[in-house]
Amino acid sequence: MHVGGEVDVRSAYCAAAVASLTNVLTPALFTGTAEWIARCQNWEGGIGGVPGMEAHGGYTFCGLAALVILKKEHLLNLRSLLHWVTGRQMHFEGGFQGRCNKLVDGCYSFWQAGLLPLLHRALHTQGDEALSMSRWMFDQSALQEYILLCCQCPAGGLLDKPGKSRDFYHTCYCLSGLAIAQHFGSGDLHHELVLGIPENRLVGGGRGYRTPTSGLLQAQSALSFTLAAAHASHLQHCAGKSGEGSDALLAAACAQPGGNRVGVCAPPIWAE
Ligand SMILES: [Zn+2]
Repeated sequence: MHVGGEVDVRSAYCAAAVASLTNVLTPALFTGTAEWIARCQNWEGGIGGVPGMEAHGGYTFCGLAALVILKKEHLLNLRSLLHWVTGRQMHFEGGFQGRCNKLVDGCYSFWQAGLLPLLHRALHTQGDEALSMSRWMFDQSALQEYILLCCQCPAGGLLDKPGKSRDFYHTCYCLSGLAIAQHFGSGDLHHELVLGIPENRLVGGGRGYRTPTSGLLQAQSALSFTLAAAHASHLQHCAGKSGEGSDALLAAACAQPGGNRVGVCAPPIWAE
C-alpha cells in the first residue's frame, strides 16, 4: 500500500475499488497490479494473500473482484478457479468453507458464493455456451438452508455457525450471501430462487438488508425460522441420524450462550 509497506491482495482490491469509485483509475496507477494478482492464484485454483500462499475465500474474492475492476480477469485460469470454489461448498452443511479442510462458516456465503456471479460474467464474456442463464454454478438452495437454519440468532443478527455468537461482520456477509443465493442476474435475466415459504425472501430497502442497527433486528423478521423443521429433517435424512441430532443442531442455533451480546467474540477477519 506504500513504499516498504505490507503487500496483500486485499489492499490491491481496496485500491482498485476506491480508484474506480472516485474516477481516478488509470492504467499508469495500476501498472503490474493485475499481473501480480494473477501470480497469487496457486495450484489449488484459488487465490492467496501473496504469491505462494494457500488459496483462501476472502483473498480469492478480493483478487478476482480487483481484476474485474481492472478488466484483466482473463489473466487468471478461470476454470481452475471455478473448480476450486465449487469444491468449497460442503455437501452436508450446504454452506461454504474458506479453505480446504476447514469448517463451514456463514461469512463465506458471500466471499465464496460471491465469486460465482463474477466467474459467470467472465466466462460469458469468453463465449462459454454451456453457462446457465437462470442459475449460478453452486447449490443455491443448499446455501439458503445453511444460512436460514444454522446462522440465525433468534434475537436478531446472524453468525458463523451454531454455538458462535452473532456479530455485525457475520450478519452482513450471511445476508449478502443469502441475496446471491436467492437472485440470479438482473433485468430481463433476473431469476429468483427462494427456498421454502415466500417469507424467506430477503427484502432490500426498508426491511433491513445491509442497514444499520435498527435494520439488523428488522432483518430477523425477514428471515423466517419456519423452514427449520423441514430442513432439520432433511439434514437428518442426509446424515442418516436420529431426529435428536437435528433438534440439537437447531437448539444450538437458537439457544447459544451469549447470543444477546452483539459484537463480541467476532473472529478476526479471515483468520478462521
Ligand atoms: Zn466467518
